[in-house]
Amino acid sequence: MLVKRRALINLHTQLENIPKEWLNVIEPRVFRGAFLPHWLWSGAYCKGHPVFYVDRKQKRVVRFVAKIFYEFPDDWHTSISCRHPGCINPNHIRIRKFHSNHYSD
Ligand SMILES: [Zn+2]
Repeated sequence: MLVKRRALINLHTQLENIPKEWLNVIEPRVFRGAFLPHWLWSGAYCKGHPVFYVDRKQKRVVRFVAKIFYEFPDDWHTSISCRHPGCINPNHIRIRKFHSNHYSD
């Protein structure tokens, strides 16, 4: 099965086309600089991984973002290919069938 990619948010994206999960959960906690390729999580971390909480349950941000922008089976692994700590840029997310490195979650 292939990873299906949804359209990423860019300069021409209309507000109504931006996924609600992104606007509610991610956008208030992400820092993007004009010339910075990495989108940095300013929310909570657990063991070096960006996390957030829903009803006191911990969720991994990279996986949550991957699910917004890509379609892939639940048992596949997500990681950040740039290895920049705290980066959650959907373009830098790697989705693999098999666990490949210790940055995976
Ligand atoms: Zn990055």
